[in-house]
Amino acid sequence: MSTKRALQLEIRQYRNAERLLLLGARVPIVMEMTRLSSWFLRKLSLEIRGEAPRKGQVPNSDQWYLRRQNNLEASLFCATYESLKKVADAGTDECALLVGAYSQVRAAFGAAGVAAGMSIDRAWWLVKSVQIKNLRRARCRVCQGRYLQAWSRLERSFLCWECRQQGYAVTGGRAPRLVRRGAAS
Ligand SMILES: [Zn+2]
Repeated sequence: MSTKRALQLEIRQYRNAERLLLLGARVPIVMEMTRLSSWFLRKLSLEIRGEAPRKGQVPNSDQWYLRRQNNLEASLFCATYESLKKVADAGTDECALLVGAYSQVRAAFGAAGVAAGMSIDRAWWLVKSVQIKNLRRARCRVCQGRYLQAWSRLERSFLCWECRQQGYAVTGGRAPRLVRRGAAS
């Protein structure tokens, strides 16, 4: 690798580490994404956030994303990540996609006055879970919205929570229909 390219790569790694740490990412995750040392990242975190990096376990379960209150945010994150990836040029790395999609979803929730609950660590794990096909987005047969579901429990006639609450159901393999008046109507 030429010296110039090596230098550019190094600068990009530092920049990525800074962006991830500012969003509150845990050190093991930043290490994996940037290949920088744990010692250096702890020092960097202290410098840019004025506090030691958060400790504790890195996310390792898909259940969080499937809970109703988290599913919309996680699904929106996936959609944003995919659309950013589609238009990304060859120089865009995974970290830029992660940070970009995460920031966009936060901004959208902020604009709607809704508190976002997904940490950057969980967003990182979500990207992995989709890549290794633990989770995928399924299309609701009523509203056509795409929501995260476990691959292992994919339903052929998937209905999202919102539509089910509105009173829709699939019976006997037929098209979804309104079987009762929903609580919200
Ligand atoms: Zn729906």
